[in-house]
Amino acid sequence: MNVQPNSMEARDKAYHLHSYTNARALEKDGALVMDRGEGIYVYDTNGKQYIEGMAGLWSVGVGFGENRLVEAAAKQMAKLPYYHTFTARAHGPSIELAEKLIQMAPVPMSKAYFTNSGSEANDTAVKMVWYRSNALGKPEKKKIISRIKGYHGVTVASASLTGLPNNHRSFDLPIAGVFHTSCPHYRAFKLEGEDEAAFVARCVKELEDLIIKEGPETVAAFIGEPVMGAGGVIVPPAGYWDAIQKILKKYDILLIADEVICGFGRTGNMFGTTTYEMQPDIMTLSKQISSSYQPISALLINENVYQPLADESAKIGTFGHGVTAAGHPVASAVALENIAIIEERDLVGNVKALAPKFQGRIKALESHPLVIEGRGVGLIGAIELKPRDGFAAGQLGSKLFSIMVEKGLISRAIGDSLAFCPPMIITEAQVDTIFDTVEASLDVLQ
Ligand code: PLP
Repeated sequence: MNVQPNSMEARDKAYHLHSYTNARALEKDGALVMDRGEGIYVYDTNGKQYIEGMAGLWSVGVGFGENRLVEAAAKQMAKLPYYHTFTARAHGPSIELAEKLIQMAPVPMSKAYFTNSGSEANDTAVKMVWYRSNALGKPEKKKIISRIKGYHGVTVASASLTGLPNNHRSFDLPIAGVFHTSCPHYRAFKLEGEDEAAFVARCVKELEDLIIKEGPETVAAFIGEPVMGAGGVIVPPAGYWDAIQKILKKYDILLIADEVICGFGRTGNMFGTTTYEMQPDIMTLSKQISSSYQPISALLINENVYQPLADESAKIGTFGHGVTAAGHPVASAVALENIAIIEERDLVGNVKALAPKFQGRIKALESHPLVIEGRGVGLIGAIELKPRDGFAAGQLGSKLFSIMVEKGLISRAIGDSLAFCPPMIITEAQVDTIFDTVEASLDVLQ
């Protein structure tokens, strides 16, 4: 990148440590600095247009430049810019949002609890699960099972739940009491001659073996994304969630559905829980709850979780948890307006209508000599590149990513997989533009 002195790019290099970035490479190469957004497009500081094929970080569902969200924020900012929900205080937007989420929940839920990020929501879920076990007089029931390649965030507990090496390596994680079971990626992890049903049965057996080895009385919860996102867009095989849930029920283990990516329409239903017929006790929500115009996340908890938690708080005198900006009025007002837009414009219907085209174009790329697999559901998907001699893992992926950026398309490289998760307002013609660009980029990579 050609970085001009005193440009945004140069100042970024001078002062800014980035998340998920090789800091030494950044010192040399600099970052791609965005200036503004409109619809499915973002524009860098040189005015170059890109399709945001990842909706930011799987999150800007209603697209960029949505004025209704700007107005909702401004109105709330003027009326009551901040208030909190500690010590029996409340404000209108958090009450309305809690009510709305409980009404929308795909399974019966009792209460909504607010946090600011997906990581905090999952961290809070872990603490609620521990608190509940203590309330029930089962202090030994604290272990949590997650999955290899699952992504649940970066705080100490959430990064421990995450099943990706870079979130553990050199951070001395995971913490004790967190375990990772098999990843349901059939193509990558199937054994020779194993069909999908046998693969699912093996995943489930590995989970049950782990529960038995650890002692069912010590295992409190299982956490999973309906569809794994940051692990590489991994869609579970048919029957997977049903079989997993039978095991969880058998051993009295709570299910936490991490809906941070799937929630609010991404899989073609309002929640991934509906798409995969899950019955979670806790759901964690973020990203498309506000289309990331404001940082906000939420947990929905059912009676099974709420009642013991309420008892314990009465015994102690408080539920000793909460962050200053939880249920922030401006973020809550924006989330409410964002959900209204998703409903009024039937963006979930748009995801459903475009999914055959989107997934069809991804699947068709399997006939390209460089592609080993195309996968996805709704408006989330990925292609995976065939390993090639002379290229370390991830090198081809990052090369293809750069070629696509050059051509004005932003995706996300996850090793040698390239993920796509565009704003849900996308049109059929724009879906075609994305995959025409992917094809042209693959031809450059040849
Ligand atoms: N859970 C899932 C499924 C996610 O994809 C993410 C972020 O990508 C998180 C949790 C963490 O959310 P945050 O980055 O807001 O902490």
